[in-house]
Amino acid sequence: MPDEYLDVFLKDEDFMMRDMIRSFVDKEIMPVRQQIDDDKDHVIVRRILQGLTDLGIQKSPFPPEYGGMGAKSAVSACILHEELSRGDSGICTACNVTTWAWIPAIAANNQAVLDRFAPEFTGKDLRMGCFSMTEPGGAHGGGGCDIENVNLHAKKLRTKATLEGDEWVINGHKMWASSQGVADLYAVVCTTDPNLGDEGVAIIYVPKETKGVTFGKDEHKAGMAAEKNHSMYLENVRVPKEWRAAGPGVDAELLHNNFVIGRLVSAGMAVGQAQAAFDTVLKYTGDRIVADRPIRQHSIAAGMLADMAIGIETARWAYLAAAWMYDHPEKYGAPTSHYMLSRGTIAKVHACEVAVSVTNKAMELMGSFGYVREYDVEKYWRDCKMIQLWEGGAQLGRLDVCRGYYDLKL
Ligand SMILES: Cc1cc2nc3c(=O)[nH]c(=O)nc-3n(C[C@H](O)[C@H](O)[C@H](O)COP(=O)(O)OP(=O)(O)OC[C@H]3O[C@@H](n4cnc5c(N)ncnc54)[C@H](O)[C@@H]3O)c2cc1C
Repeated sequence: MPDEYLDVFLKDEDFMMRDMIRSFVDKEIMPVRQQIDDDKDHVIVRRILQGLTDLGIQKSPFPPEYGGMGAKSAVSACILHEELSRGDSGICTACNVTTWAWIPAIAANNQAVLDRFAPEFTGKDLRMGCFSMTEPGGAHGGGGCDIENVNLHAKKLRTKATLEGDEWVINGHKMWASSQGVADLYAVVCTTDPNLGDEGVAIIYVPKETKGVTFGKDEHKAGMAAEKNHSMYLENVRVPKEWRAAGPGVDAELLHNNFVIGRLVSAGMAVGQAQAAFDTVLKYTGDRIVADRPIRQHSIAAGMLADMAIGIETARWAYLAAAWMYDHPEKYGAPTSHYMLSRGTIAKVHACEVAVSVTNKAMELMGSFGYVREYDVEKYWRDCKMIQLWEGGAQLGRLDVCRGYYDLKL
């Protein structure tokens, strides 16, 4: 069968990276995948993440002068996410959220942050980053999606950063962020004044050991055990003023850029999970005989397998096309435009619906064996649901799709 990735979108180096990650997943993740849910202290998880660091994933987005490879392509990032999520989407998240946290400082070419922290992240040892944006909701709303709703212009952000002399003083409460509590460095999304809206957004880098930073309990999730999500409390946390990513207005653009890239790679993750479940069910339904023939030779099952394939292929084409647009701003405009937010969100919303449906149908076709750990389909089912819920979920997602077509007021 021809390659599933269209070579109109991929460069030779993307295929090479795909092959490298695919063989890593087969060798290092597949054999231990079922143990990850029970790996409470992350002994296995950290070993795998160190293996990915050895492959150069951690340092790849950093500029060459800091020891990185200057990787910027959204297409490459999506493929990396699809391939890793075929193994374990929690591992994929824990590995790549570090890049997500670093993108604002790298895009802004913030020398102070790069000089201070990049050498650790481009070295041989595993270092983890966290993009701490989400906050709890309050009695009057806010938190969660209200922070990601571009129409609310960051007016619901509550984590406050105040400039005192040469330092930022930060107070606030963050929750849900991937690797929060275990990461070494945090890109904390703050506001200097919620009334300023987008002009008040300040993305400020805070190392884990900073005085005033504490962490609460780890959330007990249905899946994605390879990434931890402790609450984070910031009480009079002081860091140098140069550790703000850029400045008024620009930090909001950097935040919006992270929304778009986050949704694109989420689409890649969802497709990876759906593909893995599909591979499993295709084999299982070829082997198991019911009413005198393999399950997949029954037309009712063939129709379901066809729907899965239609979903997976169209979802992969959609994210590749949207990521390619992101990589060509000269033709499709700024990555932070409503147009690109809409395109990235189309890819994510569609891919997540496909993954939730494929894993669900795969379980049905495998009967009881779809529901046991042995075949991993139930794991993909648990894990992919999370991808649908984060980054604005399917409902705010739909509103963001509309923003690419008209001035939606919601
Ligand atoms: C495993 C995991 C990893 C995560 N990783 C990160 C991370 O790395 N960094 C980070 O900052 N956050 C992270 N999050 C947080 C995540 O992005 C948010 O939880 C998510 O965007 C939605 O917020 P919420 O869960 O509070 O839902 P809510 O905001 O309460 O939304 C609930 C429902 O309301 C809908 N909704 C929202 N706005 C509207 C609207 N205007 N109109 C109609 N419906 C609407 C939503 O789509 C959803 O269906 C993570 C969460 C989890 C569980």
